Amino acid sequence: MSTSGVTEADRRPSTATELYEEAERARTRGDYRSGVALARRAADLSARHGDVAGQAAALRLAANQLLRVGEQEAAITACTEATGLFESIGDERGICETLTVQAIPFNDLGLHEEALDALDRARRIAQRLDDRALLYWVHNRTGVVHAAMGDLASSNECLRHALAVVDPGDDEARFCVLNNLGDNAVYRIPQLRELGREDEADELLETALGHVRTALELAEAANHPYRQSIVLDNFGMLMAHRGEYGEAFTLVENSRMIALAHGYRSLESAALQHQAQIRLLRGDCAIAVLGLLEALERAKEAKEKPMTMAIHLQLSQAYERIGDFKAALTHYRSYHALERESHNDVAAVRARMMVHMFELDNARLEADNARLESELHRMRSAELEQQALTDALTGLANRRAVDQRLPELATLAAATGRPFCLAIADVDHFKSVNDRFGHAAGDDVLRRLGALLREHVRGIDLVARLGGEEFLVAFEGVDLPEATHLAEKLRLIIQNHDWSTLQPGLAVTVSIGVAECEDGDHTALLPRADARLYAAKRAGRNRVTAEG
Ligand code: GH3
Ligand code: MG
Ligand code: MG
Repeated sequence: MSTSGVTEADRRPSTATELYEEAERARTRGDYRSGVALARRAADLSARHGDVAGQAAALRLAANQLLRVGEQEAAITACTEATGLFESIGDERGICETLTVQAIPFNDLGLHEEALDALDRARRIAQRLDDRALLYWVHNRTGVVHAAMGDLASSNECLRHALAVVDPGDDEARFCVLNNLGDNAVYRIPQLRELGREDEADELLETALGHVRTALELAEAANHPYRQSIVLDNFGMLMAHRGEYGEAFTLVENSRMIALAHGYRSLESAALQHQAQIRLLRGDCAIAVLGLLEALERAKEAKEKPMTMAIHLQLSQAYERIGDFKAALTHYRSYHALERESHNDVAAVRARMMVHMFELDNARLEADNARLESELHRMRSAELEQQALTDALTGLANRRAVDQRLPELATLAAATGRPFCLAIADVDHFKSVNDRFGHAAGDDVLRRLGALLREHVRGIDLVARLGGEEFLVAFEGVDLPEATHLAEKLRLIIQNHDWSTLQPGLAVTVSIGVAECEDGDHTALLPRADARLYAAKRAGRNRVTAEG
């Protein structure tokens, strides 16, 4: 119900920017499905307005939320599209941020190499831009991918790099890296102990405990239940490695309660699994098995494959400890079956992603081609149009151009009340020029004449070759006496020009007729100027004749 009189429709975001901001608010709220829809609409709208940067940013925002609702492949595709757009406008920061996002769904799907490639490229950009915040996220994510690959040593190194460049004022970033370091240590410590590197394991344990305590303080200060739950679990598991099982169990139980209260199902399953693990460490194998079986059901229900695999493995170990080898073998087989399945899954995803990429590349190439083709077409037709309006011999405007421009000039003159005059010049006895010096020389005369006319009038005056040895000059804003005066000036320039540089003994004169446009009537203008021209010819040539 509306109390303010503002309807839903009024409040609905309509511009791309509003849609983007609304999508970002949805992300902050954790309403990822709405966020995806809004971000996609923002991207479409930006695309329609030709805002490439806006489109790319919106696609990345969509990807960032797609990966949280289990749509990893769609997230990867959206990132690929966004990266291509950022590349097209040379936005390095945009590329770097997008690759850092894309690494997450790659990693989630087991496409670790692709994730590392993306992060490698992002790292080089971040270094080139000398941007610590970008570099932090790249190191942190690279650490996460290495951990997922089981390479905890490399992961630790990356996370320590991240810790070295993290902005001390950025609590979210600090929390992430400290918690990740703690999480790593949980898995690294048993490995080190198995290798007999006890001192190293103990040192790592104490450092990691320091990290998770700080991370817990940050999570509590931010009043962020997800972060509290995840770090309490790590804290508990580290305490278990220290042999403090009671404290460990309580911490993980706290994590589980928060997860339960907020519906974080995967954190809840993890806590159940970890509590069983603590019981195993303590030697309560029978109870541990019960807990693990419960955790297994939940993990299967939530289709959490890596978790399901880990639980099968632990169950196999637990059953072995209590001497139930048959059950141990069953879970071991399940573990391996799932492992094979996940290899196949990764291969299938990889193949599907390749198809996506090819499709995107193709679409981009086709769009590029269409753009280039239309550009070429536009240039060609502009050139053809230009050619169609140009006289090939003199390079001046031709008769067609005159037919186009004359009505415009006449209308403009009528509309502004400014005068407008035409002069038509015709070479005297041009036939005899051809006869005496040849047709090629005649062409030279026409070219030179065109150049002389063009050179001695204003740039705005239209100069054209009407055909044969007949030229036109249009004087805009010039009245009849002034135009007559200008025509006379041109006649003298032509008469006095040193034509012998073209042919010894050559002399050229022109006769010119001048007329003024009346009431914007361009149709009568050319015939009237022509009539004056013939009057000049009849009067003996090499002269200017005007109306009146
Ligand atoms: P008038 O003084 O009466 O204008 O005599 P005229 O000889 O100039 O006029 P006429 O119309 O009898 O001859 C025009 C000549 O112009 C005939 C034609 O061969 C020549 N001509 C027309 N176009 C071209 C051209 O493009 N190049 C050359 N070289 N000659 C041309
Ligand atoms: Mg002539
Ligand atoms: Mg003529």
